[in-house]
Amino acid sequence: MAVKIIKADFYITQNSIDEFTRILAPEARGKDVKITTLKEDENIELLLEMEGKAVKVAFENHIDRMDDQKIVMTKSGILKLYEKYYPWGALTGVRPTKLVRKLLASGFDYFEIGYILEKLYMVSPEKRELLVNVVKKEMEYLNRDYINMYIGIPYCPTKCRYCSFASYELKGKMGEYYDRFVDALIEEIKITGRAMAENVYRLESLYIGGGTPSILSEIDLERVLFAIGEYVDLSSVKEFTLEAGRVDTLSDEKLEIMKKYGVDRISLNPQTFNEDTLQNLNRKFDREKFDYMFQKAKKLGFIINMDLIIGLPGETTGDILKTLNDVENYDMDNLTVHVLALKKASDLYKDDIEREELDARLIEEKIARIATAKGLNPYYMYRQKNSIDWGENIGYAKEGTESIFNIEMIEENQSTIGLGGGAITKLIEEETEIRDKITRVVNPKDPIRYVEELEERLSKKLELFSKK
Ligand code: SF4
Repeated sequence: MAVKIIKADFYITQNSIDEFTRILAPEARGKDVKITTLKEDENIELLLEMEGKAVKVAFENHIDRMDDQKIVMTKSGILKLYEKYYPWGALTGVRPTKLVRKLLASGFDYFEIGYILEKLYMVSPEKRELLVNVVKKEMEYLNRDYINMYIGIPYCPTKCRYCSFASYELKGKMGEYYDRFVDALIEEIKITGRAMAENVYRLESLYIGGGTPSILSEIDLERVLFAIGEYVDLSSVKEFTLEAGRVDTLSDEKLEIMKKYGVDRISLNPQTFNEDTLQNLNRKFDREKFDYMFQKAKKLGFIINMDLIIGLPGETTGDILKTLNDVENYDMDNLTVHVLALKKASDLYKDDIEREELDARLIEEKIARIATAKGLNPYYMYRQKNSIDWGENIGYAKEGTESIFNIEMIEENQSTIGLGGGAITKLIEEETEIRDKITRVVNPKDPIRYVEELEERLSKKLELFSKK
């Protein structure tokens, strides 16, 4: 049951606050609210009345550049009424950096945006600073001169219990389609590459994700990378990433093949160094092999990203701090820290698993110390709807090693041409100065459907991109 708006003297829909109160002020649900504009000159002043309580919210009038200002003020007012103070204030979106960019496009400067975030959205000074710094870094890279390419390999050695991605084990029915999947992918690369050349699209970044792309056998890895080099124009590509998150899939030869075909970034993802946790999550991990592959990748000159997850089931603050102590021993170029958000498609969500209360302050301080010591700065971030309320996913990078692909993906700024299992193609076109039109074509996650529907989907996708 949502908050019921029984009176408002401006346009506000029930929908615009339903999701907000469900997440941030569940006590307000089912209650009636009356909203009155008391003043609207150089300042706007609203009065919210709920359950016999009332609160006034006032802010400078920017309604000409922020058409949702009164809605935001209503949300802040509800938080104030119920004395809810969160680090992210009234922000619920997955991509808070997009809001900052929208405000920039509306003519506000960083100082004004910081003020709006803190006073209007009630965002804490720490999160405000994080958000503004991330956007400043992103702005060095964001452009619409190029597009990017994503290739999805929807197979993994085992399915991690928290996983909601496109990923299937090689054993079982989906695994029987592995060979046909690789053949179909090569066909898709060939046709897409040719069509892109005809339509003069230029690639800035290329990302092979999944699943775990390093699960491809040596022969298939070489076939796929060869096909990319043969059919896709890589002359403008500035970075080429391949996720090798599970070291149990890696070999010396695979790393050498990647190097030979121009892959320059890889991800090696322990998630945690606590082997019991990984075992319980159905994720095999061999620390010795991890260390060996890390050193080998370093020697070959790859830019290495390491992913960690905070909030894995059974992990206490102590466990997480221990992993973070271990992290200090590695010289990674990028570090990505995720807060576990259980999605409906994961086994853990279905099991309704309980998780430990974590000491956010201690963990955040430790991450900040590591980042400073290693010269890693936050350069992209996003939040997840179900993440514990202090959390956000943050990518840190050494200066100059930021992943352009990650930035463009999170900001939904550049168009993406998606190939392979579960890949999403997005054509992004500017609608107004502050709004884009996004058209999507989604490849099936399931390798069987991927193979069977290849032809039909390819023509849909190519038609989309030929409309340039
Ligand atoms: S390695 Fe990644 S994609 Fe594969 S099952 Fe685990 S979480 Fe999912």
